[in-house]
Amino acid sequence: MIYLDHNATTEPALEVIGEMVDALERAWANPSSMHAPGQAARSLLADARARVARFLGCAGAELVFTSGATESNHMAIEGALKARAAEGRTRLVLSAVEHPGLMALATRLEAQGVPVSRIPVDRQGRVDLAAAQALMGTDVAIVSVMGANNETGVLMPLAELAALAHGCGAWLHADATQLVGKARLNFASSGVDLLSVSAHKLHGPKGVGALLIRKGLALPALLGGRQERQRRGGTENTPGIAGFAAACDRAAQTLDDDLARMAALRDRLQAELLRTLPAVQVYGAQVPRLPNTLCVRFGPLHSDPVLGKLERAGVMVSSGAACTAAGTAPSHVLLAMGETPEQAQSGIRFSLGRDTTAADIEATVAGVHRAVGPMLADAGFTVP
Ligand code: PMP
Repeated sequence: MIYLDHNATTEPALEVIGEMVDALERAWANPSSMHAPGQAARSLLADARARVARFLGCAGAELVFTSGATESNHMAIEGALKARAAEGRTRLVLSAVEHPGLMALATRLEAQGVPVSRIPVDRQGRVDLAAAQALMGTDVAIVSVMGANNETGVLMPLAELAALAHGCGAWLHADATQLVGKARLNFASSGVDLLSVSAHKLHGPKGVGALLIRKGLALPALLGGRQERQRRGGTENTPGIAGFAAACDRAAQTLDDDLARMAALRDRLQAELLRTLPAVQVYGAQVPRLPNTLCVRFGPLHSDPVLGKLERAGVMVSSGAACTAAGTAPSHVLLAMGETPEQAQSGIRFSLGRDTTAADIEATVAGVHRAVGPMLADAGFTVP
């Protein structure tokens, strides 16, 4: 089996499993308890916080552990709207290609009366900075744009967006879930005020992540309770947090090599598919992208049968489109990039990981040929 679905999730690293088991066996007490076992759990938490903060380039006090990026996104946006309402800042500005969880939050807030503006993207899937500028104003509480898109891997211009947001007094939130382990990330120098991450995209466990909150920003808590400096109540997920820290340490050791290797392999996969199959369309290839992501469309082929055939050929990938009970809905990301609804149901995402090898890529190209070649031939294309 060749697993090229690392933007969906990654396999927990051995170090991660080791630290999690250790935390479960030896630091299972409640970190809020005053006794010695509680203190042991508290010191595990402090140690993990320092390690995750080092990897993300923030201060420990700026980091709140959460149940993952979805919660972090909610905390950032709902918190900012609450915090800034008294200043007359009530509007949310977000990109048109955010993660479905964040898009759904915006739709719900809009139904509750929150003014919401969506920044369009260009044909490559990058936010349109002129359009973003036109949407700024003194009524904006928060601008939310992802660091990299999960479907296309396209990187968003966060520094420019920070300048625009700050120019009108708004905060900038970045859902950086797809950046961790696939780009160099430094919160301190990013210009971003609130940043969401998740451990499971980084060979860490699921159900744990963080929200980074720039020092001095008063963000109200969504969950009551004293934990995380009163910013996020609930007994801390110590094994998950220990695993997150292990994942960060492991990623930091090899990040530069990983980025270079994944980019070379992704470029090879892209070049081979373009060279050997007709009608391959690559999304976001003209702009900076994550080094591990290749989003393509094979002519007019709908993603559902392509995914099924690829799986039978041993290649595990995803479509960008959301699966619903009624079938596959068009991807809102590809629609926002100007694709037709049919085209937007055809995206296939290959996402490499740090352990992907050249042999995996060769086998993937062969698998794609076996799976997709006959389908393209049936659709009238000449397949060499
Ligand atoms: N944002 C982005 C960009 C993502 O790719 C994902 C994971 N698919 C999430 C948010 C949700 O992360 P989590 O599973 O940690 O809630």
